[in-house]
Amino acid sequence: MSKLLVFGHQNPDTDTIASAIALSYLNNELSYESEAVALGEPNEETKYALDYFRVDPPRVIKTAANEVENVILVDHNEAQQSVSDINKVTVKAVVDHHRIANFETADPLYYRAEPVGSTATILLKIFKEYEVDLPSHIAGLLLSAIVSDTLLLKSPTCTTEDVRAAGELAELAGVSLDEYGFKMLRAGTDITSKTAREILNDDAKSFEMAGENVRIGQVNVVDVNDVLDRKDEILEAIRQETREYDYDLYVLLVTDIIENNSVAVVDGPAYRQFEMAFNKPIQLNTVELDGVVSRKKQVVPPLTDVFKKNKR
Ligand code: MN
Ligand code: MN
Repeated sequence: MSKLLVFGHQNPDTDTIASAIALSYLNNELSYESEAVALGEPNEETKYALDYFRVDPPRVIKTAANEVENVILVDHNEAQQSVSDINKVTVKAVVDHHRIANFETADPLYYRAEPVGSTATILLKIFKEYEVDLPSHIAGLLLSAIVSDTLLLKSPTCTTEDVRAAGELAELAGVSLDEYGFKMLRAGTDITSKTAREILNDDAKSFEMAGENVRIGQVNVVDVNDVLDRKDEILEAIRQETREYDYDLYVLLVTDIIENNSVAVVDGPAYRQFEMAFNKPIQLNTVELDGVVSRKKQVVPPLTDVFKKNKR
């Protein structure tokens, strides 16, 4: 068979890139010529993992049919998430942990889908089935993929198989699961190079609540102190924006994606409405919101209710 390209989905994440590299490595060990490629540049988290285990990022492709006839998909199966000319190549294999939607082939293929937390967990099993040893850099990348998809084994999608696989891979890679995993997730949420205004606005929305102008931004972190250590600077930026846009209430939700909690930085003349909505006092412009992670589901509705009940 001619050379195979192995790739994951568009906007690649760590599981997509690590799984492509690992499966391509396995193919080559089994004498199927194969290359891992990606449908985009790696994100900051994936770059950290690749750097740490000294692996070059995969070549980025836009189309596949111009160079190969056969491809292998990892971490996805839906055509709209795949390479743009997927219909012009033959899918020889799929290794995935997502729903199967509209997937069809003309010929038989190897299709492996399991409802686990990451594709990497399935790949560890496949290596064992083919009795191919994992070198430490491949083990490290697969570990990174599990940590990424399961948020350090804490997401609701994480299964006992992922936990077992992560333990085994950490040992093969020679790293501490918790220590390495935390550093990798932290690299992915690194805000040190961002200005206060960028932190406020990267994911911010404006809401009209009972005639008042409310701004709610959100920033995901693995340590809320990454943001709270810069509170003075953040507040200064909030006040500038409040003057510019005439906000009645400004909220920045600093969300800890590992512990599933948020700290809100709150300012503006309508701050008491926020205190009433969450029944908690704001101290030095901050308030801890246990279990709050969703702006849409957990912040906007109670705040809107309070604004409606207590028209100022
Ligand atoms: Mn993915
Ligand atoms: Mn995945």
